[in-house]
Amino acid sequence: MTAQENTLPALKKKKLVKQCALVFSFLVFILAIVILFPQIYYFNDKIKYKNFQVFYDQKIPNEIFPILDNVEQLIQKSECYDPDLNFKIFLRSDANKYNLLPFQFPEVGSGHAIPGIKNVFLYKSNCSTDTTYNHLGHARSLSSVLAHELTHVMVESKWFFKAKMAYFDKNSLTPFGALWKEEGYAEYIAGNLPIKMEEGIKLLEGTSKKHYSPNFEYFKYWLAVRHLILKKQMTFEEILSSDLQLATVLEDALQERTQKADGY
Ligand SMILES: [Zn+2]
Repeated sequence: MTAQENTLPALKKKKLVKQCALVFSFLVFILAIVILFPQIYYFNDKIKYKNFQVFYDQKIPNEIFPILDNVEQLIQKSECYDPDLNFKIFLRSDANKYNLLPFQFPEVGSGHAIPGIKNVFLYKSNCSTDTTYNHLGHARSLSSVLAHELTHVMVESKWFFKAKMAYFDKNSLTPFGALWKEEGYAEYIAGNLPIKMEEGIKLLEGTSKKHYSPNFEYFKYWLAVRHLILKKQMTFEEILSSDLQLATVLEDALQERTQKADGY
């Protein structure tokens, strides 16, 4: 047997491995494009209005424009509002659609902004009635949920590192698995919470029956951040940078309310 005959299969194997690696890299690249730019393939209608690009699985009704005007008004209240920031919003009227790929529509909850990519997906929405729904069918106004998710995009754009470091801070990450400062701030900007003030206070004081727990969690975050902004005159950047405990802030907020009611 010659030396040449010995090396031929090895060469063939090397070529095959190289071809497989190329095909694999190409498939990963295609998958990444599809995940990062879902707008290029599966939405039936899209509009571009002000800083918003909206994609929907149906024809987008004209009612979307006042909804987006309202969202703009809400997010302009934020100290991290940036008039040059553009938002990509993906909506669907049918929760059974578009469930094939990762990093797209949420399986539970009402929506999310994908970190890094900044695409915003809501679970199920009706653009004609300004309504959005979570996986349990609980309704909330589309404009407030959009303002909530876009606040995440704005916070990430301005303070990416600071905001993400909160995941390593035991006082910022709640046992529920949420960052109370950022979620509370997103709710503060969004408004129109599912739990209203009086009802939430009763829940906190234990004088009212149990509510859908994610809504109660977010009410607590909202109340704490609202207290820090309105009563303690803190900016969100200061809140983000300060060592604060949710329980202590809530205690303080409740105490101040009681004192006010008692006429102090
Ligand atoms: Zn959120």
